[in-house]
Amino acid sequence: MPILCVKCKNQPAETSAVEGRLKLCPKCFIEYFERRVKESVQKFHMFTHEERVAVAVSGGKDSGALLRSLKRAFPNLDIVALHINLGINGYSEHCESKVRELVKEECVELNVFKLSEEGFTIDDFRKTLYKNEVCSPCGIVKRHILDRMALEVGAKVLATGHNLDDILSTLLHTFFSGDFVQLVRLKPVLMPQHPYQTKKVKPLIKMSEFEDYQYALYTEIPIRELNCPHSIGTKSREGKKILESLSKGNPNFKYQTLSLFLKKLIPMIEDKVKQPNLMSCIRCGFPSSTEVCAYCKRVEMVKRVGKRA
Ligand code: SF4
Ligand code: ZN
Repeated sequence: MPILCVKCKNQPAETSAVEGRLKLCPKCFIEYFERRVKESVQKFHMFTHEERVAVAVSGGKDSGALLRSLKRAFPNLDIVALHINLGINGYSEHCESKVRELVKEECVELNVFKLSEEGFTIDDFRKTLYKNEVCSPCGIVKRHILDRMALEVGAKVLATGHNLDDILSTLLHTFFSGDFVQLVRLKPVLMPQHPYQTKKVKPLIKMSEFEDYQYALYTEIPIRELNCPHSIGTKSREGKKILESLSKGNPNFKYQTLSLFLKKLIPMIEDKVKQPNLMSCIRCGFPSSTEVCAYCKRVEMVKRVGKRA
């Protein structure tokens, strides 16, 4: 006798949600996922129906699940998808093609930014002091370009596909390294601190990586079949392994930690952590804590090496 879905009670339960505690059939799982995303948006006041929302899409399961669930939960919302083609050989073109398939299915406007048009790609950072660890400059580039794209398309809100596991693994890393400025930035909503910034929101904050994957599978989201060649052994993968071992035998661990972070830790430290004073970068005008922003510094570095080669 198969186990029946705890919601509809007439279909076999194929999957589970909330760390295995809720056995559901595919149809009820999809409803659960979209309802939970909607609840997070409303609970944290991420956006209103009048606002234009930019959604960063990478070709992966998380951002794909984000775009589809937002579109279904808020059918009348003005959504624009933003994609950066990072110029990673054998990977970025594949990601872009998946994004194009998805936005076509969802009838959503798409803006693509080809990093090569800036005169460099993420692969070029291998020739700099970063060598084979290019995720750090890649993160800086993505944050800057997404801010720029959101501004250009007139979006007041930028939604990203950070899931529960992403947030908690970064939380553990930043907590133990004492980086409380970054820790505060893990909040579900970050208000703009500069005229060139948008409000940043994380509607998947309560959805686990497994749930994103299941949702992508059940709703047949076109997602990339390749991993980024630079992702091997990155800190985020290591952080997730630690998170998994801490959660073993305690299905509540991730939710308890998130709740502790949102209800206790953030209110306790937010006012005490001094955020850097933001000024405008003298080169690009975007927010920076120094005269020249992190993005412009990386661009200068990668181009200098390119000229010498
Ligand atoms: Fe960029 Fe690293 Fe992610 Fe690849 S794995 S897309 S290099 S951050
Ligand atoms: Zn700059």
